[in-house]
Amino acid sequence: MSDILNLQPKNVWKYFYQITQVPRPSKKEEKIIKFLLDFAKEHNLEAKRDQAGNVLIKKPATPGMENKKTVVLQSHMDMVCEANKDTKIDFDNDPIVAYVDSEWVKARGTTLGADDGIGMAAQMAILTDPSVQHGPIECLFTVDEETGLTGAFELEPGFFEGTILLNLDSEDEGEIFIGCAGGIDTTAYFKFTKEAVPAKSCAFKITVNGLKGGHSGDEIHKGYGNSNKIANRFLFLFTKKYNIRLSNFDGGNKRNAIPREAEFVFTVAETDKENLIKDFETLKNQIIKEIEITEPNLNIQIEKVSLPEFIIDKNTQKNLTYSLYACPHGVHAWSTTMPGLVETSTNLAAVKFNDVKITITTSQRSSLESGKTDINNMVKAVFELAEAEVESGDGYPGWAPNPKSEILEIASASYERLFGKKPAIRAIHAGLECGLFLEKYPYLDMISFGPTLRGVHSPDERIEIKTVEMWYKHLVDILKNIPNK
Ligand SMILES: [Zn+2]
Repeated sequence: MSDILNLQPKNVWKYFYQITQVPRPSKKEEKIIKFLLDFAKEHNLEAKRDQAGNVLIKKPATPGMENKKTVVLQSHMDMVCEANKDTKIDFDNDPIVAYVDSEWVKARGTTLGADDGIGMAAQMAILTDPSVQHGPIECLFTVDEETGLTGAFELEPGFFEGTILLNLDSEDEGEIFIGCAGGIDTTAYFKFTKEAVPAKSCAFKITVNGLKGGHSGDEIHKGYGNSNKIANRFLFLFTKKYNIRLSNFDGGNKRNAIPREAEFVFTVAETDKENLIKDFETLKNQIIKEIEITEPNLNIQIEKVSLPEFIIDKNTQKNLTYSLYACPHGVHAWSTTMPGLVETSTNLAAVKFNDVKITITTSQRSSLESGKTDINNMVKAVFELAEAEVESGDGYPGWAPNPKSEILEIASASYERLFGKKPAIRAIHAGLECGLFLEKYPYLDMISFGPTLRGVHSPDERIEIKTVEMWYKHLVDILKNIPNK
């Protein structure tokens, strides 16, 4: 412990250490809420909590700075709790054992909780540091960012007054984030009737695997293969050409992962099987060639299997394979305000059979609300045309990048002044709490920035010590340069 307490800036690391001693799994934030409210009391700071459990602690302006715009500093108080198999820990009651390992602070066998404990620590340091000059400050600590963005979803309008928000939950020093994507899930259901396997048929299984998969937001632009799409190319071709009959299709898993594996079982007339296998080889080689650079380990196989118990009706099979073919997957639009940023995308995530129906899971993302609606309608339209029952969730809103933001200009100029180089300005194609704040506080001017973290959400999680000092210095300088109301 003492080694962490000797790091600079001392105040930040002192609070970081204290935070590691308080259990705070997502959805179990009672202990950390109490810790924050006790801290506010001890320092005579005005504090409140809302229904969801979010905490707000206020600090008045330092003398002469009263006319500045109010700034909201924001972090989330929950952490992802992951441990190595051989580490014994009760995350509901035990502290995290953090230690210094040369350039990094790490935890013994568990996640460190620097995501977002370091954001909280910086807020507490600002709230107590008499040497920092600033206008009115409100520190917002949200609950349950990691498993549902619940705190941000349930945040009440009027809980804070600030018009500028600094989100302290980013993971790369030297980068300032100014946008994120909103998302929505769409699920399609096909009901089928079972039929008997036709006489004089044999059965095969086609398997697609060896793909990279990856996150459906961060990695959607990388050109990775989609196992459902690939498997369906065979299903579509063979349905049209050989009148094959589908028995089962199983592909993908989580809605936010690009599917890596898929397989389907079908029957075909004995007399067609040789030609079908020839066609299989041809199409297989074409697909492997198409994506050999991004997917060198793609593996597509056909094998003879025993006859299935049933096949599904022809009409549902046709609707399924046509809609899987027509359903978009991947990047739909690139941002015109932020070159290189995916603006809108969709992931054809999973195809699952049970005894009576087929469930297709998809998810759409966009940094524009209208873009999200557009891609969502596109996916829905495909499945509705195919007579599926289609449902979409409520989704969550994005944060459209504003390269002309005032706080971005202040933060960039400050960074350049302090470190003699320009920060990178970025947006991400995944969700952040900021998108939800905008829903209730549409006038907010926001950026997100943080020190360098690696291995986040795993027991490898670590934070680069020197970047904490740089980041905190940057934060302090930004506060000093906030414009007047
Ligand atoms: Zn986080």
